[in-house]
Amino acid sequence: MSGESSLKIARIEGIATSFPVKQGVTLGIGRAVKRDALIVKVTTESGLVGWGESHHGRCPGAIAQLINTTLRQLVVGFDASDVVGVWSRIYQRQLASHGMGTACALAMSGIDQALWDIRGKAVGWPLWRLLGGSRRPVKAYAGGISLGFQPPAELVDEVAALTAQGYRAVKLRFGDTVARDLERLAAVRAAHPTLGIMVDANTGYRPDDVRRAMPALREFDALWLEEPFPPQDERSYRDAAALGGVPLAAGENHFTRYEFNRLIAQGAVRVLQPDLSKTGGITEGLRIAAMASAEKLDMHPHTSASGLNMAASIHLLAAIDNPGYFEADVARENLFRDALTTRCDQLDANGCVLPPDAPGLGIEVDEAFLAAHPVIEGPAYV
Ligand SMILES: [Mg+2]
Repeated sequence: MSGESSLKIARIEGIATSFPVKQGVTLGIGRAVKRDALIVKVTTESGLVGWGESHHGRCPGAIAQLINTTLRQLVVGFDASDVVGVWSRIYQRQLASHGMGTACALAMSGIDQALWDIRGKAVGWPLWRLLGGSRRPVKAYAGGISLGFQPPAELVDEVAALTAQGYRAVKLRFGDTVARDLERLAAVRAAHPTLGIMVDANTGYRPDDVRRAMPALREFDALWLEEPFPPQDERSYRDAAALGGVPLAAGENHFTRYEFNRLIAQGAVRVLQPDLSKTGGITEGLRIAAMASAEKLDMHPHTSASGLNMAASIHLLAAIDNPGYFEADVARENLFRDALTTRCDQLDANGCVLPPDAPGLGIEVDEAFLAAHPVIEGPAYV
C-alpha cells in the first residue's frame, strides 16, 4: 500500500441484477418468479476494487438509484479504510433524518461490505483476520428459499439429500397451516432423530397459531421458531415468548444496532439473525454482536443472495465470541451463488464451512454476469 491517500474513494456503483426462476417455490407471499440481487462496487483512486452486497429490498432498482445518486455524493472522496467515518456520515446525513429508512440501511450495508473488502485487499489480509478472528470452522444449516410446502414424504427425501451432503441442521418452512406445518415437522423428526431442525414462519403466523404449535415444537425439539410475526408486532412476540417452549428467532428485518438494542432489551427474541446486507453492514454487525455477547446471545446471521453476503457472514462468525449458525442457501436455482460470485459455502465432514482465505471478503465477482443479467422490474412473488 503506497499510503493512505491511495485509498480515497473515487467511484461507487450500485448494480441491480435479476434472473427468472423456472421452478419457483410457493411461499405464504406467493410463487417466486425471479430472484434479485444488488451488488455494490467501490473503486479507490489507486484502482483497488471492493465488492459488497445490499439486500434488494424487493425493489433493487430503487436501492441502486439511492447508492448511485444521494449516497455516492456523501461518500466519494472519503478514505475507504475509514469504515466508521463513512458509516457515520451516511447515518447522520441520510438515515437519521428523512432518509428513506430501510432503503438507506440496505444501501449502506453494501457500501460498508465493499469498504471492508478494500481494507482487506489493501493489507493482503482476509476479513476474518482483519476482524481479529481465526480461520475456524463455522457450523452451517441448510436454509434459504427451499424446503417448501411439499407433502411430508417429499420433504423427508429432500432433507435426506441435504444430510447426505453433510448438513447436520436444516430449517423448515412454516406458515402453511399449523396442522400441515406440524405434520411435516413430525415426519422429518421421525426420519432424522438427531438432526438440528429450525422452523421459519416468515411472518405468516397469528398468536393463536403459535399457541397451538408450541407444544409440538417442544416435543420435536425444534431449535427455534423464526419470525412468527412481522417485526413491528412487538406485542405478539411478547405474548408468544410468555408461552414458553422453543426460543423465538428474528432479526433479518431489523435494522441497525438501535433496533437490535430494543429487540434484546425486550427479551422476547433470544435468537438474533441480523443480515449483514440489511442491518448496516459488517461495521454494524460487529456492534450488534458485541451487544448480544454481553447478553449471552449468539449471532445467527440471515444470508442471501450471492457469495458476497455469505462470505461476509462466515468471516464475521469466525471473528466474534458468540457465533451461531451460518445460513447456507440450498435453493435449487441461485445463479448469484453459482455464477455471479465464487463460492465459499463448501461443507466439511462436520457440516461446517470455513471463511475464504483470500484478502478482503475473498470473493470474485463476474462482471460479465452483471452485464448479461440486468434487473427485471416488478414483484418477485406473484
Ligand atoms: Mg427467515
